[in-house]
Formats: sequence, C-alpha cells, structure tokens
Amino acid sequence: VPELPEVEYAARVAREVAVGRVITRLALLHPSHRRALSPRRARGITGDRVVRIDRAGKLQRLLLASGRALEVHFRMTGDWATGKVGDPLPRFARALIEFDDGGRLVLDDPRALSRVTLADHATRGESAVGPDPTQPGFLPARLAAALAGKRVSIKVALLDQRIVAGLGNIYAAEALWYARVDPRAPAGRLTARRISRLTTAIRRVLARATRNVERYYGAASTAAGTRFAVYDREGEPCRRCGSTIARIVQGGRSTYFCPRCQR
Ligand SMILES: [Zn+2]
Repeated sequence: VPELPEVEYAARVAREVAVGRVITRLALLHPSHRRALSPRRARGITGDRVVRIDRAGKLQRLLLASGRALEVHFRMTGDWATGKVGDPLPRFARALIEFDDGGRLVLDDPRALSRVTLADHATRGESAVGPDPTQPGFLPARLAAALAGKRVSIKVALLDQRIVAGLGNIYAAEALWYARVDPRAPAGRLTARRISRLTTAIRRVLARATRNVERYYGAASTAAGTRFAVYDREGEPCRRCGSTIARIVQGGRSTYFCPRCQR
C-alpha cells in the first residue's frame, strides 16, 4: 500500500511531467475507472492546462486552468509510469494522460482499485481530510484539537484521515515509538507534551521515509533499504531499551510497539 512518502514522491514525478502542460488526451482504460469518470467528461478536459499538483494526504490533485481538478487516488497498488505518447503501455495501465509536449503519465495499477475523478470546483472535498503532516500547518495545537474528546486509541486515531491526512499503518507505529507514546492510550487524553512529541515524531518519520523512498525508488517500495524501528519487528529487541517489541491488533491492523518505553 503506498504510504504518504511514496505518494509525495509520485506527486513530484507527476509535477515534472505535467505542470504547465496542456492535456491532449485523458483515456480511462479500465471499466471501474470509466464508472468513476465517464469517457464524455474525461474528453471534456482536453485542452485544459495543468497549473499545479497538490497532494492532500494520499490524494493527488492536478489543478487545471479552468478551475477544475483531476483527483487521483492510488489506493492499494497504483503508481505513475512516465513515458512518451505512443510508447507501449505497461501491462496494468488503467488510465493515461497525454500532454502537448509529447509526455505521458500512465496510472499503472495491478489491482485496479485506484480512482481518477474530476472535481468541478477544485476546493471541494478538502475539509474531509485533516492537516497534512508534511505542511507547516501541522502543529501540536491543531493535532490536540483534532484529538480532543476522542475515545479511540491514539493509534487508531492517527489512521483516521480526518485527524491526520495520509498517515498509514507503518508510519503511525513508527511515530508512536519515536514519541514514546503507548499506541493503546485513549486519543483524547494525551498530555500536551506527548502531543507535541508526537507531532515532531510524525514529521520526522515522514521526512526520513520520503528521503529513503527517493533513494530506493525503482528498486522496490517502502521496505527496500529501510529498517523500521518497530514496524514488523515483533520479538526483536527495542533499539532504545532492549525490551522485546510486541505486536497487537487494533482496528483490524497490526500495531508494533515497545511495551516498556512507550507509555
Ligand atoms: Zn523500548
């Protein structure tokens, strides 16, 4: 599953290909994509120019000169393949966008769960996602406000896209370890100090992960060359205190943590 760093990297790739370019063709190659965006509407963006590409959590938004936005969500296995118009398509090509300079973005997605939709007003939908931890507005006070009154565990809360946009299972566990916060703690009852540590930890974990993805991109995805502090390390010693890393299930997902130093 692409995590935030992979999606940020993908958005950068898309920016290099698309920003400033005029779309000459948007083709939806899979039935599920044609259900989400009709071919007639897709044809309607021909001639529109990509002004910039934003990322809100794991949603990439190609903002168009007309004020509309093409919104792309990779879901489980989506990724961009770049190339030139007329190049052979990757095996799992689900959508393609061609540009006036001969460049091309192909949405390559083995499981075909990705989505491409068109928003008529580019600002719509933004309130549905919480603050993006890679942006300057991600501050302890903002996270504290989002967590206030929440009875779910902090781990489950961190995966809620309305609280923090785009934080996935791996980096939520990593951030909780760096911040020394117990993943089982009720989200609404964390002290200001812990929330402050957690804010810093989330930012650091994601910044480091983005650098790793850049370094290893092409070879493999998240795990390549990256050693996590707790994720997928059940039974191994904690790097900080030597205690044994435990695994529990929260909200149907595995959580890895150190029962001694995360309290
Ligand atoms: Zn420990």
